[in-house]
Amino acid sequence: MPTNRQILLDNRPADTATVNNFKLVSTATPALQNGQVLVRHHYLSLDPYMRGRMNDSKSYAKPQPLGEVMVGGTVGEVIESRHPDFQPGDPVVGMGGWQEYSVADGNTPGALRKVDTTHIPLSYYLGAVGMPGVTAWYGLTEIIRPQPNETMVVSAAAGAVGSAYAALAKARGCRVVGIAGGPSKCRYAVEQLGFDRCIDYCQHPDVATMAAALEAACPDGIDGHFENVGGYILDAVLLRCNAFARIAVCGMIAGYDGQPLPLQNPSLILINRLKMQGFIVSEHPQIWPQALQELSALVVQGKLKPRESIAHGLESAPEAFLGLLKSQNFGKQLVKLI
Ligand code: NDP
Repeated sequence: MPTNRQILLDNRPADTATVNNFKLVSTATPALQNGQVLVRHHYLSLDPYMRGRMNDSKSYAKPQPLGEVMVGGTVGEVIESRHPDFQPGDPVVGMGGWQEYSVADGNTPGALRKVDTTHIPLSYYLGAVGMPGVTAWYGLTEIIRPQPNETMVVSAAAGAVGSAYAALAKARGCRVVGIAGGPSKCRYAVEQLGFDRCIDYCQHPDVATMAAALEAACPDGIDGHFENVGGYILDAVLLRCNAFARIAVCGMIAGYDGQPLPLQNPSLILINRLKMQGFIVSEHPQIWPQALQELSALVVQGKLKPRESIAHGLESAPEAFLGLLKSQNFGKQLVKLI
């Protein structure tokens, strides 16, 4: 059996996470039991939620245990199988974690899924046609419920979730306005992702200037907002929301690696009769097939052109992950392992 390199959570961050919270080890891959499948990972997904799992605090999911392989989505190839539904060479997506190989139980629902790479690259199953894409789909269609010609806004617009959101909202006939960091991300959002406008928050570093930029970009106000960042960006959006606007609270990345960020003016929720709803995409398995079908079609039709930030080699994962929390990625953050 091949040697497997793994990254474990070694200790918890005191405040800001560092590479010293992780530990690289080598182990042998175990012999397979009946029903099990050995997968060689080609790509590992790095996602913001992993930062929350590093803390031992109350959340929607249990903390990542110390001394165990970091949790994470993976795509790869079946190397050996003792399950009739999986054959060597099958491309698969699963939750293999921060390691080069994993053993999956083929009988556990959702543990391992075969994917079709004829028209869609394998890595996209961790991004546009995977969990981040489905996240955008759920927040938009189930919480915001857009109508044609309404104005939809999203923060972290050039990222994995934000890029899928743009394609999905355009497909529903909406005006779509993004908020992202820096001129290249904003140019990419408009030229490649189909955003009508993209606001560079680095040029608008406080509530007043961000609210003014939103007013210019959204002359009819905001009907639906998909929040990925939190802090002053959300404060500014609330100032520009129309009555009865809907806000899907997906993430608050600006507050993940340190202290949580307060909301400046919650009375706007009442004044504007807003609907504001948080959600966790993994709690809605029933919508995944429909969402993945639409996302696949958008990619195949060239209406969703995802971008990837690729780090190379398992040992690069901690640094790349910390970069994701500091806006250093440009598109879906992956680690290429093979
Ligand atoms: P992205 O690919 O968008 O990468 C993260 C981006 O967040 C960075 O590139 C950066 O973009 C932005 N960012 C990071 N730090 C800050 C900061 N301090 N202030 C402003 N922006 C910042 O990641 P994902 O698309 O994977 O995730 C986007 C959001 O969706 C996250 O909040 C994540 O937690 C959430 N999420 C929630 C899920 C759920 O079920 N609720 C599921 C999946 C994701 P920029 O350069 O533009 O600042």
